[in-house]
Amino acid sequence: MLQVQKASSRAAARRLRQSASTQVGRWQQQRGIATPSEPYDAIIIGGGPGGYVAAIKAAQHGLRTACIEKRGSLGGTCLNVGCIPSKAMLNNSHIYHQTKHDIQRRGIDVSNVSLNLPVMLKAKEDAVTGLTKGIETLFKQNKVDYIKGAASFVSPTKVSVKLNDGGETEVEAKNIIIATGSEVAPFPGGSITIDEEQIVSSTGALALKEVPEKLVVIGGGIIGLEMGSVWSRLGAQVTVVEFLGGIGGAGIDEEIAKQFQRSLTKQGLKFLLNTKVISAEKKDGKVYIKTESAKGGKEETLDADVVLVAVGRRPYTDGLNLEAAGVELDNKGRIVIDDQFNTSVKGIKCIGDVTFGPMLAHKAEEEGIAAVEYIAKGHGHVNYHAIPSVVYTHPEVAWVGKTEQELKAAGVKYKVGKFPFAANSRAKTNLDTEGTVKFLTEAETDRVLGVHIIGPNAGEMIAEGVLAVEYGASAEDIARTTHAHPTLSEAFKEAAMAAYDKPIHF
Ligand code: FAD
Ligand code: NAD
Repeated sequence: MLQVQKASSRAAARRLRQSASTQVGRWQQQRGIATPSEPYDAIIIGGGPGGYVAAIKAAQHGLRTACIEKRGSLGGTCLNVGCIPSKAMLNNSHIYHQTKHDIQRRGIDVSNVSLNLPVMLKAKEDAVTGLTKGIETLFKQNKVDYIKGAASFVSPTKVSVKLNDGGETEVEAKNIIIATGSEVAPFPGGSITIDEEQIVSSTGALALKEVPEKLVVIGGGIIGLEMGSVWSRLGAQVTVVEFLGGIGGAGIDEEIAKQFQRSLTKQGLKFLLNTKVISAEKKDGKVYIKTESAKGGKEETLDADVVLVAVGRRPYTDGLNLEAAGVELDNKGRIVIDDQFNTSVKGIKCIGDVTFGPMLAHKAEEEGIAAVEYIAKGHGHVNYHAIPSVVYTHPEVAWVGKTEQELKAAGVKYKVGKFPFAANSRAKTNLDTEGTVKFLTEAETDRVLGVHIIGPNAGEMIAEGVLAVEYGASAEDIARTTHAHPTLSEAFKEAAMAAYDKPIHF
């Protein structure tokens, strides 16, 4: 391990820097990492879904590549504190809830069903560790140099790295991709402070040591609904306070959102819509949350054992020293890019949560591949009209393309085709019939403009909708494609039939 001692004078500090840099050079050589005198072809800053995918793709294109990540493990927000741990908790809490409340009617008698939360949390940790280590193996297989440390620009082609093991090094490349992601947005105005124990962000909500009796969730977006579902299934009384008049966040079809809310309400979640949280105060082991009507007035106080603050995420560029490179940010702190992922500085590209677009892992991954292809081949492709969204509750909610409210607002003439899972043979057989598939097609051409699904396995089924939007398919194309029987995907086909003609089973 490298040790950097405190230097009392400038000269001593300079000598120390030189010595540390020589040691780092040796450290790098031992690990096959290029020394500062050997520039890389590409450096990726950030090892999340955007960054690690970009690094692997760059190496596959024969570029000598380094990926700098300061977290100590690869996979970014998604694998460490996001997609993966939340899905582990969603899946296992669903099995627990189903075993407790749904299994008897299936002819399975079980008794003494109880929750072992430490084991459930351990299963989540194991999923995270397995997958993050898997990326390290992929790096080795693809010969990506993994530099563990915090990167900071020195110039447009040079980055200094404060190594996690101590010391500093500098690396250089003519292509640098920034993929530093996002962080939890603090509660605006500073009237609520996250302590990750009683007032938690999604990160704390993934690691609560016991099931709270009362959980108040601030924000009815995806995080609020997914984490609210987890703790509700495990026994908490959950109240979701949402500023807007509907749940599900941006991009959800309003009709589906209403059905979604009815479904979650049946499961026991309470919703306070058109309601704004203004403050939260900890007192005598409880948290007291002040709310007011979104239009002002009508104040109320809720009490909770735990509060989840889920009011969004913001781009993360702390410590990057973007000024040294001259990279431009917009007024929301996002790195400004053009349609080829170029920042305002030649040779520096940017992808993922830290720039424009939806904050989704698969969007970051697609951008990682495309940005590298622009470097290696001069062209790349991401279709922003065909990026799916999935809420992994039960039923799941998934969509791609336009919503009905968007088509109305744009004055587009459209047709709607719907099919309920209650009329699908597989859903009936599985005793899992809640939900609908909804197609939106262009009235004149039958082209699929949007697909919205609430129902079992919606997240898997939406892939077919994404393909339809990507390839400009018509509803008839899908309706005339054979779908296996008995599958939930027949509901997808029948909704397409409903859009251009008539379904058979409804
Ligand atoms: P990140 O994953 O944030 O990775 C950026 C990395 O850069 C971090 O590891 C950070 O440590 C590192 N970094 C930052 N600055 C520096 C620096 N100066 N030097 C070195 N390293 C640095 N999306 C989905 O698509 N599906 C889901 O189911 C889903 N679930 C989610 C659940 C939760 C609870 C949360 C919080 C998010 C979820 N997301 C989901 C969103 C998803 O996690 C993000 O969209 C995705 O991780 C963005 O990838 P990224 O590579 O842009 O950034
Ligand atoms: P969000 O922006 O989706 O939702 C935040 C909600 O909080 C909004 O509906 C907003 O109206 C509400 N809100 C804001 N201030 C409020 C206040 N004072 N009182 C009451 N309500 C208030 O943000 P999120 O749910 O935190 O998610 C962040 C990001 O993470 C999203 O961009 C999402 O794409 C991503 N994510 C994705 C998945 C997934 O793909 N399954 C899962 C989790 C997170």
